[in-house]
Amino acid sequence: MQKTIYLDNAATTAVRPEVLDAMMPFFTEWYGNPSSVHEFGALCNVACDKAREQVAKVINADPKDIYFTSGGTESDNWALKSAALAKKEKGKHIITTKIEHHAVMETCEFLERQGYEVTYLDVDDQGLVDPGALEKAIRPDTIIISVMYANNEIGTVQPIREIGRIARSHGILFHTDAVQAFGHIPIDVNEDNIDLMSASGHKIHGPKGVGFLYMKKGVKLPPFMNGGHHERGRRAGTLNVPGIVGMGKAAEIASGEMSKNAKHLSGLRDRLISGLSEAIPYTKLNGHPTKRLPGNVNMSFRFVEGESLLMLVDEKGVSASTGSACASGSLDPSHVLLAIGLPHEIAHGSLRFSLSEENTEEEMDYTVKVVKEVVERLRSMSPLYEDMLNGVA
Ligand code: PLP
Repeated sequence: MQKTIYLDNAATTAVRPEVLDAMMPFFTEWYGNPSSVHEFGALCNVACDKAREQVAKVINADPKDIYFTSGGTESDNWALKSAALAKKEKGKHIITTKIEHHAVMETCEFLERQGYEVTYLDVDDQGLVDPGALEKAIRPDTIIISVMYANNEIGTVQPIREIGRIARSHGILFHTDAVQAFGHIPIDVNEDNIDLMSASGHKIHGPKGVGFLYMKKGVKLPPFMNGGHHERGRRAGTLNVPGIVGMGKAAEIASGEMSKNAKHLSGLRDRLISGLSEAIPYTKLNGHPTKRLPGNVNMSFRFVEGESLLMLVDEKGVSASTGSACASGSLDPSHVLLAIGLPHEIAHGSLRFSLSEENTEEEMDYTVKVVKEVVERLRSMSPLYEDMLNGVA
């Protein structure tokens, strides 16, 4: 049996047919610029405002506080760089964590080169930030706290409400990168005390290249993109109308199906976790056992190398992902896996399987079978594994 099973939905998802249907007329028929005053423009403007309402509803936000962007990366850059610029008279200290996505991490590193100071908080061995440690890290010159809602590699969901409460009680801006959480788990920007939140369309069966930044009323950050009066003067650039319409539709569907999908996905997730753990010795689940995204499985397989495992399971029709090589192609292990305390060699032998509601129990069982076969094959060639069996290691 040779199938192709896509288990890399944290990287990106398939656009749903309903989403594509909603987008198509904005390429071919109603291709106006929403800034134009004629009917074409007005129609597009109305469509973007509808999308604004659709995404706002998912997080209990006022639609006026939604600013469309080109995706999660831009939203993260905007939030952090503009907050740093706007608050530099108050201070130059930023608090974030050691497990953020590169879009936050590298923006913080950029700001360090501009003279800002960044505290990168540790996480525990399941990837959780300690709110007490976060509060202790706050200084009089702290201007922004950025903690991701849920981790893209290990799926751990942070105590965001508590972190937001701490930030607010100290009068510090709170940003969360919710790219992996939006549309998958409930978010309420008011209850969660969120000032700034990044989200992206392509993680929820919407199109790539579109996202938004939620900016709470009263939080007046300067624009990141200059050049026009779009998005109420906060984000210049002609609106990506089909993308925005698609993201709105995808958000509406994701929200309507959230509890049904979460139930289905967490069932599949737990089946895959227990299947792999039972079938293959010397495996470890990474991330929190319960405070984790419904569709995330991240496992380490000792005595194997993640890249080889990834390629060999791909040959057998299972598309997963490894955090062990960063985008630059270097073989540094994932900063997230190191932050939860995995030794380099175990971090290197890790795979992430990120599921979608399209996946089935049969696919999970097939994945277990394939991963078991490949791990056994790779271990049979590993001198370290042999040493361990012979009691040398
Ligand atoms: N933040 C997180 C947590 C992500 O997982 C991603 C994408 O993988 C991004 C930000 C970047 O989002 P985008 O691809 O929309 O730029």
